[in-house]
Amino acid sequence: MRIVVTGGAGFIGSHTVDALVAAGADEIFVLDDLSSGKRNQVNTRAAFFQVDLRDAAAVKAVVEKTRPEAIIHCAAQMDVRRSVADPAFDAQVNVVGFLNLIEAARQQGLRRVILSSTGGAIYGEQDEFPCTEDHPLRPVSPYGVAKLATEAYLFFYKVQYGIDYVALRYGNVYGPRQDPHGEAGVVAIFCGRILGGKPVTIFGDGEQTRDYVFVSDVARANIAALNSTASGVALNIGTGIETNVNELYSTLAAIADFPAAAEYAGERPGEQRRSVISPARAASTIAWRPEKALGEGLEDTFKYFKDRRGRSN
Ligand code: NAD
Repeated sequence: MRIVVTGGAGFIGSHTVDALVAAGADEIFVLDDLSSGKRNQVNTRAAFFQVDLRDAAAVKAVVEKTRPEAIIHCAAQMDVRRSVADPAFDAQVNVVGFLNLIEAARQQGLRRVILSSTGGAIYGEQDEFPCTEDHPLRPVSPYGVAKLATEAYLFFYKVQYGIDYVALRYGNVYGPRQDPHGEAGVVAIFCGRILGGKPVTIFGDGEQTRDYVFVSDVARANIAALNSTASGVALNIGTGIETNVNELYSTLAAIADFPAAAEYAGERPGEQRRSVISPARAASTIAWRPEKALGEGLEDTFKYFKDRRGRSN
């Protein structure tokens, strides 16, 4: 199967390409503009095309060359704060860029799309904990609005052109290769501070919660969704476990044997208070379950950043 992975030089996309290669896929094409992704993270078994999804003509040319049967769409402007500061830029990448891609691909025989959606920003402040996919969708950032719009466009493409899709609503993804920016950079940021011997800063009281899911579990969810017959569904990809920032920091500090207490700064305006999503539907629909416990995932992540720092010194 010819598979395009957009954002395949980025954090989740590069792990997804690695998982595809490990599963035996042999026609993998990575599309990425390297705005945050890194060329050296692209698996050598994949063909790489440096292209900005906002450039419709360039996207069309690559799609005509690669003729994907399936797309795993990980590319995005994924910084929530940037989306608030510049909603038009966010929509150019996350909505128009996606449309450039799918419009070109549907004319080349596209059958299936797996979307990297969000289980945080798409729900907004939750009424139930953990929440299911039936929870009201009340995004409070342009980033969340763009993900919601993309899911709605996929429904349109299914009805109009018979293109199957699964939207995967990720929790806060963490793990090796994460850049300390965007939605869930907190683990990467904390690792960087600790390794630099500097205290971490927690915004607000640290009682805000998230659903932390390890990146290899997310990559596996992409493969499971790709290989399933599920279509027209959104699936939460999280653990169902709520962890607050204070707990996260104390676990990481213990792993790192780092004695300094966290410093506290003013709450960030608009930050979601609690976020935790039920993975039950993903279990029944694509037989996916999270496998990595948080403590173990934090150990792997801290070791990765420590080794990387060791190599660059
Ligand atoms: P990332 O920034 O590492 O990956 C995004 C990739 O997209 C990068 O390689 C970047 O270079 C590329 N890209 C950005 N703009 C582009 C453009 N105009 N044209 C082509 N490529 C472009 O971030 P990530 O954490 O790996 O996120 C992957 C996907 O998962 C995104 O769609 C994001 O919204 C979604 N997501 C991430 C999280 C999380 O916790 N990290 C949570 C929910 C959803």
